[in-house]
Amino acid sequence: MTSSTATSKCLCGQITVSVPQAALNKTDCIGLCYCKNCRQSGGCLAAYNLYLPEKDVTIDGQPKIYEDKNTDSGTTLQRAFCDNCGSPIYLKNPKFAGAISIRLGGFDELPKPGMELYGKDRPNWFKQIDGVKENETMPAMTEDWKDWFRKTGVSI
Ligand SMILES: [Zn+2]
Ligand SMILES: [Zn+2]
Repeated sequence: MTSSTATSKCLCGQITVSVPQAALNKTDCIGLCYCKNCRQSGGCLAAYNLYLPEKDVTIDGQPKIYEDKNTDSGTTLQRAFCDNCGSPIYLKNPKFAGAISIRLGGFDELPKPGMELYGKDRPNWFKQIDGVKENETMPAMTEDWKDWFRKTGVSI
């Protein structure tokens, strides 16, 4: 591990995920997803994700993959988790080949998110975070969103 890498572990420690330290400063690439599937898969209020090019991520250990077919978009998502402790590790959406969504909760540093997805499913007692860009569901594939993917280094 170099000083330019940030690493997380699942709860039992058999899976580690390393990302460039600089990725944790890219607020635009950090999101909270309040959709039902994310909440169910993590037993949490929202999934806390870093979106980045898959090539920038190193995963040691072998997560188990759950094919999540019952999604709002109809797309089958790959949800990776530790088969020993159950910690969610990452999510991949085949629509965005080359991109990966890493669960951020296992990192020591917890950077502020820049956007929220499925804001319509956020409970009304939980206030939106200042400065966070709200999306009611998944953003439509607008030029803004395409630009965002380009910024993350993913070609779509
Ligand atoms: Zn584990
Ligand atoms: Zn979600």
